[in-house]
Amino acid sequence: MILCRKISELKEFVHQCKKEGKTIGLVTTMGALHEGHASLIKAAHAENDVTITTVFVNPTQFGPNEDYAKYPRTLEHDMKIAEAAGADLLFAPTPEEMYPHKDPTWVEVCGPITKVLCGRTRPIHFRGVATVCTKFFNLTECDRAYYGLKDAQQTQVLQRMVEDLFMNVTLRIMPIVREADGLAKSSRNVYLSPEEHKAALVLFRSLKHAKEAFDKGERSKEKLISQVTDEIKEEPMSDIDYVEMYGMPGLTEIKDTVTGKALLAVAVKFGKTRLIDNVVLEAE
Ligand code: AMP
Repeated sequence: MILCRKISELKEFVHQCKKEGKTIGLVTTMGALHEGHASLIKAAHAENDVTITTVFVNPTQFGPNEDYAKYPRTLEHDMKIAEAAGADLLFAPTPEEMYPHKDPTWVEVCGPITKVLCGRTRPIHFRGVATVCTKFFNLTECDRAYYGLKDAQQTQVLQRMVEDLFMNVTLRIMPIVREADGLAKSSRNVYLSPEEHKAALVLFRSLKHAKEAFDKGERSKEKLISQVTDEIKEEPMSDIDYVEMYGMPGLTEIKDTVTGKALLAVAVKFGKTRLIDNVVLEAE
């Protein structure tokens, strides 16, 4: 696997791949790679001639009081995981390389899709995500880009962006990879104390119970949301940011009754760590 820090080197690699008619799969990450990221790299490796992984803690998607400075940076470890999963090149640029101008050009997906769920408390987050992903799509000229359903809102926002801007990339949305105990794998799980980790298991548990209720025929949005909210609140260490439901694709509003496909998503703080998780509900 090639480690590449400079845009000029990356462009040269991409140029050569294109000349040879190779397809390119892209996995964008902020590093601290785990099996969730590895699952995306493996999928890209299986479906493309060449796989590029990026490791970049993107400053523009963090709000002023968020964890940009302390976000884990573990490049040596990341290289091992990426290579083992099948990456051919790992691109790890500096912020200066990615944002050469003080006033950057932004890509902003507008409307409720970026205002609900995480957008409510993270107003600039999706502008940063859309902007950096556009840069990576342009730089890598990827045919396919792989995203985890763990960040469900991100997948919907990026899909909207790709459609709106007629981008020549196919987004592939992959399932959530979990710890054996059910906690969704996340680079932020390392912040959790053992007690907080144990408390956070309520997320998967409550979502699983909601899915069971849905599968038994419960279609009331309000009832499904309050079932999850009540179960999470029983855990004294939890501090709920949101429990919400939207239609999929596109995070459309659900009036009262769930029809078709719906995303039931939660964001909850345990101590100082904010975790997200979700389940997609779909009648058979
Ligand atoms: P991040 O490094 O947090 O920006 O995540 C990079 C990519 O990995 C995103 O597409 C995430 O949705 C995906 N990802 C993170 N955690 C998981 C997980 N537990 N299962 C599947 N994909 C994940």
